[in-house]
Amino acid sequence: MKSIRYLFRIGNGPSSSHTIGPYRICRYIKAKYPEAVHVDVTLYGSFALTGRGHGTDKTIVETLKPLTSKIIFDYKTKTEHPNTLKAEIHMADGTVETIWATSPGGGSIRINGETSAPEPEIYPEKNFTEIKQKCAENHWDLVEYVRQREGDEIFDYLDTVYDTMMDAIDRGLVTSGELPGKLHVQRRAKEFLVSKYKDESETGNSFRLMLAYAFACAEENAAGGIVVTAPTCGSCGVVPSVLKFYKSKYKKTRKEVINALAVAGIIGNCIKYNASLSGAEAGCQAEIGSACSMAAAAYAYLKQLDINGIECAAEVAMEHSLGLTCDPVGGYVIIPCIERNGMAAIKAVAAARLAEYANDTSVVSLDEVVQTMYRTGKDMKKAYRETSKGGLAEEVKMSKK
Ligand code: SF4
Repeated sequence: MKSIRYLFRIGNGPSSSHTIGPYRICRYIKAKYPEAVHVDVTLYGSFALTGRGHGTDKTIVETLKPLTSKIIFDYKTKTEHPNTLKAEIHMADGTVETIWATSPGGGSIRINGETSAPEPEIYPEKNFTEIKQKCAENHWDLVEYVRQREGDEIFDYLDTVYDTMMDAIDRGLVTSGELPGKLHVQRRAKEFLVSKYKDESETGNSFRLMLAYAFACAEENAAGGIVVTAPTCGSCGVVPSVLKFYKSKYKKTRKEVINALAVAGIIGNCIKYNASLSGAEAGCQAEIGSACSMAAAAYAYLKQLDINGIECAAEVAMEHSLGLTCDPVGGYVIIPCIERNGMAAIKAVAAARLAEYANDTSVVSLDEVVQTMYRTGKDMKKAYRETSKGGLAEEVKMSKK
């Protein structure tokens, strides 16, 4: 497995696969072909079907500038990966180079089947079972495991990640108005900050705050603001919401929260390398389900659960996200995405609480539930995998067009 820095990428929303990935592909083209003058880009699969709503076309045109470009939406041709594009790069001397690129999720990219700049494999362990074994042999907790594999520098990077997450929440909490796109959805995070009830219970208050934080971050993403893929843009509000909530409620130190982020990163890595983080490949369970699993693990760590308790929290969170389809209305990362971030933050905390009680009697391992998620995703009809052709996207259609 690679560094968790490739899991937590910083960039503009609204979609790690549909905007951050294409942004990186275009940067690759400009760097590799300095003599290029024009690029014809053909979008396939989910890129073609939801690219307009996600802003894929705009991202490509803007990033390729000053080169001229033309975007072609091919809705019919089938490609191996749903997020595929072909770039025909026209050089000043009249020759044309063609590359095929995919954006498999989380902002990573592959050019002609290869990762553009090979990222070193620094974790020899391939799944959570092997990680647990390594930790047991060496008497490490998960934070020490990350330190041993990545060195101290990773915690400096996670510091920046944490600040970027909190900045996104802070911006979202003070911004109101309509989100971009044809749905005319209003931002709601700011209004959640103030309770409507004088006698609100402690639980009600906690839920409201987690919703506010998750909405703030997800709304910033929908508006194209800078966020962190955790593990994707569409699911970027879950982990930050849980971290901010826990830190402020229980007066945790910054260091403890950064450590919790490392724990979340390990869970995300296990899902990334053994299944998928892409809604186009495995439905929303791969995005929101993975974020929920990561946040539950972080929360469990902050609650001082041991490695088995952390695994149980992550497993429960994913187990109860299984089957979640990707059906963004109109192709925008707004409905149901923003609310799903809020609900997943609350579910993550519930999963960690369940793990406190059920950890000793847990039967299903994290690795098993990750494989289940992947197989379930592969079994899902294509309509439920980021095509905006099934589920809510189909039912609601663009009645609000
Ligand atoms: S429904 Fe889920 S997977 Fe699909 S775009 Fe929204 S957040 Fe991403």
